[in-house]
Amino acid sequence: MVLPGRLSEKKGITFLNDKVAWLEERLEKYPDPIPFEDGRVVPFLGEPLTIRHKDAKRADVRRDKDQLIVTAPQARLSKAVRDWYKREAGCEITILAKQKSTMLDRPYGRLTIRDTRSRWGSCSANGNLNFSWRVVMAPNYVLDYLVAHEVAHLVEMNHSASFWNIVEQLSNDFNKGRKWLRLNGHELHRYGLEASARDERESE
Ligand SMILES: [Zn+2]
Repeated sequence: MVLPGRLSEKKGITFLNDKVAWLEERLEKYPDPIPFEDGRVVPFLGEPLTIRHKDAKRADVRRDKDQLIVTAPQARLSKAVRDWYKREAGCEITILAKQKSTMLDRPYGRLTIRDTRSRWGSCSANGNLNFSWRVVMAPNYVLDYLVAHEVAHLVEMNHSASFWNIVEQLSNDFNKGRKWLRLNGHELHRYGLEASARDERESE
């Protein structure tokens, strides 16, 4: 925030606090959401997939090279795609988490996939791991870094130098992954965010 010279920092912060709800609302709306619908291009492990929708009574999603074939009633198309992402995220992340926790000889508790808005992943004090399904849209090395980060918290519940040493042991490209998230992470929140998805997410 830039303040005019004669305004005190305290007044500036009060002003900012008054506007938090408004700011959040603006940020939420910008940039444009990319709904899950026929013809849309969506990322999966950093590769573009084109959604091909076929109307049908029952929902089924499968990947065919660079296409995501979704057979579902129109009303369930978006949810079907989100559910597919969640399943894929679960598979990819579980493989990495098992591999990395074995490297450290530290088992984790439960692994859950959610639509977390504020964090890409977390590790609880009792060793449960939690990830946003959206990270499976990012390239492999981003996923690799994120899982390394949360698994390293099984040993170090902080962001100290020794924590980062463990992350480095667990991930080949952790700096590249971190940087990608810093630069592009917000983009992942654009996908599948039509009004109905929002309502549903809030009630989850
Ligand atoms: Zn952390």
